[in-house]
Amino acid sequence: MAALTSSPIAVMVLSQASVPIAREIVNAFPNATLYGLEHRTHGVDRAFTQFGETVRELFSQGTAIVGICAAGILIRTIAPLLNNKWQEPPVLAIAEDGSAVVPLLGGLQGVNDLARQIAAIFEVAPAITTSGDIRFRTALLSPPREYRLLNPDDAKTFLADLLAGATVKIEGDAPWLVESQLPIAPDARLTIKITEQSMTGRSDCLVYQRTPIKRLAIIGTGPGSAEWMSPQVNEVLRSATDWIGYQTYLNLVEPLRTTQRLHVFDNREELERAALALDLAAEGRSVVMVSSGDPGIYAMAAAVFEVLERDNKPEWNAIDLQVCPGISAMQAAAAQVGAPLGHDFCAISLSDILKPWETIADRISAAAQADFAIAFYNPVSKMRTWQLEKAKALLLNARSPDTPIVLARNLGRPGQQIQVKALGDLAIDDADMRTVILIGSSKTRIIDRADGGVWVYTPRRYDAQ
Ligand code: SAH
Repeated sequence: MAALTSSPIAVMVLSQASVPIAREIVNAFPNATLYGLEHRTHGVDRAFTQFGETVRELFSQGTAIVGICAAGILIRTIAPLLNNKWQEPPVLAIAEDGSAVVPLLGGLQGVNDLARQIAAIFEVAPAITTSGDIRFRTALLSPPREYRLLNPDDAKTFLADLLAGATVKIEGDAPWLVESQLPIAPDARLTIKITEQSMTGRSDCLVYQRTPIKRLAIIGTGPGSAEWMSPQVNEVLRSATDWIGYQTYLNLVEPLRTTQRLHVFDNREELERAALALDLAAEGRSVVMVSSGDPGIYAMAAAVFEVLERDNKPEWNAIDLQVCPGISAMQAAAAQVGAPLGHDFCAISLSDILKPWETIADRISAAAQADFAIAFYNPVSKMRTWQLEKAKALLLNARSPDTPIVLARNLGRPGQQIQVKALGDLAIDDADMRTVILIGSSKTRIIDRADGGVWVYTPRRYDAQ
């Protein structure tokens, strides 16, 4: 029997009774090794003492795992490592007598094919559970709008071959197919080709032409959790080829990543990175610039336009530039406590890296006098610790110490904390660089909540009490 792939396969046994079955599998695949539990098995290729550790280590290295054991043991062992199905190697559980062959993981690395080949040795049917028909049909016949299937007439035969068990290889980047669980194998007979030219397809080769739309999308993920991210942002992230942003922001969307290349920002390199994003898009990549919250609020969208205007490179003209909004920290914070921004409000960043402190101080005083509710972004950082105290003093010139304020930290992320207190009690330790602060206007009110907490709201009618 021919080997499925050239990547290594570990056949794992826990007792001597499983060794004959395991040996039959190992003999069928030149790249397979028989691993047996020490003192319980003999005549194996390698002995191990810790089943869990050994399996996890092999799995992390991308080794296919064939366990002659209960499916549950393998599932529990590997579960903590599961995070990117595009990279997970095949994992199969085989009954001790060869009567059941169950592919568990690695659908995108050919696990079903491996299952079919092993099942053939024991003359049983593999327990394939992926519903290929529906998935494959949508994936193949409805590519995203920037891809066009050039030979739709061949799709029917192609699909039938796939469903009959044929494998497929992909030539080029097809980000939308990574969700499809196609039986991908490097030596497959069927081919999916993604090109930028026009080409003739065949019944064993589907050709998708990619119109090189040069796209740069500047997106906001919302404050953190997935349910606060817009469906548009989700879609744009999935269909892109490149993601660019700070590590923390890229971490927020990592669960959505499949084949996208990452370009990680270092601190304070914003204009350089904006130029890089534009250059990548001009080369025909589909680039997403990732910001947290809203991309247009103290974030990267303005940096991109700044560079666009300053450098004005002709090759950037063809880029389809798109800004996709997100929920900003002040909105998420307000929603947690009620409606503190229910009437006129403004936002002020306390960071004096890009603007002088005098300007910030003038704005705080003016906003306080004009009786705006205020959202303070960037209240403190490791380097900037005195601004918040000054801001408080400026506010107190025009606003009562009883004014309700909201301190919201790590919104939508682990460690979320919301605190409501009076302006007079604001202390510097209440805030860090992951905190947004809302300051009420003279009309902002606190009311009791049934659960013992409070609501904060600013009435819309100016004469309301
Ligand atoms: N574009 C972002 C703001 C970036 S400026 C937005 O629209 O939300 C960075 C500041 O935003 C932080 O210092 C903090 O004041 C606020 N911030 C961003 N994310 C936050 C979160 N998850 N929880 C609380 N504050 C947050």
